[in-house]
Amino acid sequence: MSRIRKIYLDESEMPRQWYNLAADIKTEPYMSPDGAVPPIAWAPVFPMNIVEQEYSTQRWIDIPEGILELLSRWRPSPLHRAYALEEAIGTPAKIFYKNESLSPAGSHKPNTAVAQAWYNKEFGIKRLTTETGAGQWGSALSFACSLIGLECKVFMVRVSFDQKPFRKLMMQTWGGNCVASPSNETNAGRQILEKTPDTPGSLGIAISEAIEQAVSDKTGQTRYSLGSVLNHVMMHQTIMGLETKKQLEKVGIKKPDIVIACAGGGSNFAGLSFPYVYDKLHGAQIEIIPVEPASCPTLTRAPYVYDHGDTAKMTPLVAMHSLGHSFVPPPIHAGGLRYHGMAPLVSKAAMEGLISPRSVHQLECYEAGILFAKTEGIIPAPETTHAIAVAIQEAKKAKEEGKEKVILFNFSGHGLMDLLGYDKYLHGQLTNYELPDEIIRQNLEELKGYPMPASAK
Ligand SMILES: *Cc1c(COP(=O)(O)O)cnc(C)c1O
Repeated sequence: MSRIRKIYLDESEMPRQWYNLAADIKTEPYMSPDGAVPPIAWAPVFPMNIVEQEYSTQRWIDIPEGILELLSRWRPSPLHRAYALEEAIGTPAKIFYKNESLSPAGSHKPNTAVAQAWYNKEFGIKRLTTETGAGQWGSALSFACSLIGLECKVFMVRVSFDQKPFRKLMMQTWGGNCVASPSNETNAGRQILEKTPDTPGSLGIAISEAIEQAVSDKTGQTRYSLGSVLNHVMMHQTIMGLETKKQLEKVGIKKPDIVIACAGGGSNFAGLSFPYVYDKLHGAQIEIIPVEPASCPTLTRAPYVYDHGDTAKMTPLVAMHSLGHSFVPPPIHAGGLRYHGMAPLVSKAAMEGLISPRSVHQLECYEAGILFAKTEGIIPAPETTHAIAVAIQEAKKAKEEGKEKVILFNFSGHGLMDLLGYDKYLHGQLTNYELPDEIIRQNLEELKGYPMPASAK
């Protein structure tokens, strides 16, 4: 029993501040046809205390006591050493994973859900609307709203609504109201259903519906909440990386050599890695790898452009890597990694060469997920298997090189609600899908005439 498998922190050791990368790298402004979007323009969409955070360039931001209290229900989360996985690979590398699967909703998403619900409540809001892909975010926000006493309305991407009834039931258990998107409840939804009644839906469509419903509430008591992409969400998630630093220090490790996380909108990646991007900006040698599906290759194959965050073009233009706002991804099982865009801060970090994006195919991911389940024991979410696949690639490389590297990855969530995907994999019903160049090119044509981000020119 001399080996330490899990590194814990006391509740009293929880970080008291979030790290805001916007203090250290500059992103391009949100744009509308009238020019840069001022904070006040967001007032119908988000409460102003959150808008203020979205625009903040202060490096460290205090976490309010009320939010620390909510987070302490499951945080700090343990950091595990993956001895069994290391042995199965036969690698000299030390593999660590931050275990975010222990939150009530089963992923990292409650870290920002409780913060956002808390700020909305402070501002006097009564009801939140949102979208959800695989159902992880919808369940996290339903959970947070139930703790705080807010109503929660969730537009769930049709294909997941049909494939994942249990996520919907989690939302309902926490008192959330979940409908399939596109729905008949909004103009955006009705228009899309008229044109394409059989659409599997997309995050871009569900976002349009959720925003429309929030801003059209005439009482002014509804706001919208986004589970990823925006600066304030990236910042709320940094509690993971800040905890991890303390945990690695406890076992005498000054820094990891490689930091890995899957990237859909970018939040679990940002949360673990941004505190290390800060170190890298100050000279540390760390390879930082966001991992995305080859079927939705935003960072690895899409250009850095101005695009809308949603299909109905309700959001301002956002400078980011984008496959085009009408992109409807193929229905692979990693529902949470199918967004057409990427967080502006993650996109900019990629443009500045601070991070090294990689894509993987779904069969390699499931294979990695199953090796992880059979060695470490926890069944990973399909999204999380992308990070595991690259951790295994790097562990094998370390073996070839005979190097004792420290590999850190984010175990963003468990897969207990996603077993249908495993069933399909185990029955040989899944295939790899590489998005053809032609489809990317066609989709990007809709961006003709949009401004280009200054740093992309
Ligand atoms: C939502 C989700 C993701 C992807 O979202 P990001 O914002 O990129 O983190 C990854 N893993 C799990 C388990 C998720 O629920």
